[in-house]
Amino acid sequence: MKWVTAKARVLEAGGVRVEGVPVDQYITHSLAGPGAGAGGSFFFACGDDRRVRLTPDPAGDIALVHEGGGAAALHIGGRIVRGRLERAALHCPHQAYITVSAGCRYRCRFCTVPLRQGRRKTIDEIIRLVDGVRPGISAIALTGGVWSDPGEEERYVLEVISRLKRFGIPIGASIYPVPGTPQRLRDHGVAEVKFNLETATPDLFREICPGHDREMVLDALRNSVALFGKGHVFSNIIIGLGETDREMEVCVSELAEMGVIPILRPLTPAAGLADLRRPSAERLLRLCGMHGDALRRHELDGRAALSMCAACTGCDLAPWRDL
Ligand code: SF4
Repeated sequence: MKWVTAKARVLEAGGVRVEGVPVDQYITHSLAGPGAGAGGSFFFACGDDRRVRLTPDPAGDIALVHEGGGAAALHIGGRIVRGRLERAALHCPHQAYITVSAGCRYRCRFCTVPLRQGRRKTIDEIIRLVDGVRPGISAIALTGGVWSDPGEEERYVLEVISRLKRFGIPIGASIYPVPGTPQRLRDHGVAEVKFNLETATPDLFREICPGHDREMVLDALRNSVALFGKGHVFSNIIIGLGETDREMEVCVSELAEMGVIPILRPLTPAAGLADLRRPSAERLLRLCGMHGDALRRHELDGRAALSMCAACTGCDLAPWRDL
């Protein structure tokens, strides 16, 4: 089975049945990304840089068999894909990916962050977290909810960044933008940014992300390309919110034309969208082909990514890694 097909099947399933040697030492409990706050997840890698993030599901049809010492295999419908388990640094392999504020004043319908009523990390705490995983990381990434208002969140994240610069590795930031955010992040030495458009269409955005301003996000993305360079600006778009393939293609093309790399993220049904279904493997594969074509047309190469999801690729089909 080709890697991309195996990964699409795992993303469609949403979880794997774990067999063999326990995988406890590989499990991380994360406050960000798909499945945040659930029972934990771990990473399966194949070859040099292909990986998928796995969530244990005792009832899963796909089995992950851990043979010990990290050697493992995915068993998918009678086919076997061999690889190894990979340890996360903080949240994902090779990065200290930190959720600054684990709470949010907004209520995006797919997101579990507002439901958990977590807390904001202190700057000293963040420094200690990064210190604890050095030297095994190549980047620091910051994300989180909007604790009180977007301007205040940005000011706090900029303070955090000022203190993190001393580690001397690239910093990626994914925050909710306000006017001037890209320039201020750049002035603070951030290497890459991710501003999430979340939905393929403006109508879905209004429905799924109440209170957010899609034009503001698009403006931030547009301005960021000139500041951070092509291939260093990203935007998550969720697959499975009711958009058509054609609508997804239009959105991906619009972003790629601006020099932004879209990250096509399969929906994890949760929070206000718990009754929706995960997108099928067939759809994920179809959209991955379209995504790869759009990136090629606009000479965008995700392999240049230094941080965040484009460098990790655990939760999505990423044409630059998985095809
Ligand atoms: S792809 Fe992004 S959300 Fe998923 S594990 Fe990697 S860094 Fe986290």
